[in-house]
Amino acid sequence: MMEKLSVEERFSNIDYNLDIINERIQNAAIKSGRKPEEIRFMAVTKTVEPIFINRAIEHGVRLIGENKVQEFLSKKEYLKLDNCEAHLIGHLQTNKVRQIVGEVSMIQSVDSVKLAKEISKRSEQNGLTTECLIEVNIGAEENKTGLDLSLLTETVHEIATLPGIKVKGMMTVPPICDSSEQAKKYFSKMHQIFIDITGKKLDNVDMCILSMGMSSDYEEAILCGSNLVRVGSAIFGPRIY
Ligand SMILES: *Cc1c(COP(=O)(O)O)cnc(C)c1O
Repeated sequence: MMEKLSVEERFSNIDYNLDIINERIQNAAIKSGRKPEEIRFMAVTKTVEPIFINRAIEHGVRLIGENKVQEFLSKKEYLKLDNCEAHLIGHLQTNKVRQIVGEVSMIQSVDSVKLAKEISKRSEQNGLTTECLIEVNIGAEENKTGLDLSLLTETVHEIATLPGIKVKGMMTVPPICDSSEQAKKYFSKMHQIFIDITGKKLDNVDMCILSMGMSSDYEEAILCGSNLVRVGSAIFGPRIY
C-alpha cells in the first residue's frame, strides 16, 4: 500500500522532480545539438489538484497541459495562470469546442478537418485565432486518436485555408514501447515527417512545434528532434483516478 504523503512532502517532491527533469532536458537538448531554451517543457496536470499545479507554476513551470475540457474549466479559476500558458492535449469532441475556444492558448489534439472547422467557426465568432497542432497517429494504431499519416498533407492543406485557426506544428503519442530504441524509431519517423512538411512551406502554416515525449521517454524524444515535451507523472507522481 502506498503511504499517504502530506502536502508539504508532495510539494518537495514536485520541486525535486522538476529540478531533475529540467536538468535532463537541458542535457538532452545539448546532446541533440540545440540550446536548452529551444525545448519547451509542459507539465501535464490531468487529475492533479490546483494546489499542486500552482506549486509547479511557482517553481517555474510556464506551460501546463490538460486532457479534458470539463476538468480544465473547473480547475481554471483556482490556477495561477498569469505567467503560465495552458494547452489542451486530450481528444476533443466537436460539441465541446465552443467551451474551450478562448480558454487555452493552443489545442494540440486536432485530428480531423471536421474538428478544425468547428474550431475555426467558434474562433471567428469570438474574434480570435486559435493556434493548433495536428495530432498524428504515428503508430497507425487502431482505436487511437490522431490523424492517419496517409491523410496528413491534404488535411494540413485544408485546415490551412480556414479562418480563425493557425497550424503551428504537430503532436504525437507513439505506441507503448518496450525499449527506448523502439520509441526512438517512432520519434525519428515523426521528426522526418515534420521536416518534410515544414519544407513544403504551406500558406498560413507555421510548422514550428513538434510535441512529443512523455515521462518515460522525453529524453529520447528530444534526441530525435522534439521541441516540446509533455511530462505528467514524473512530476506529480502516479495518477489516481
Ligand atoms: C497524460 C498525457 C501525457 C503525460 O503522460 P505521463 O506519462 O504522465 O508523462 C502527455 N501527453 C498526453 C497527450 C497525455 O494524455
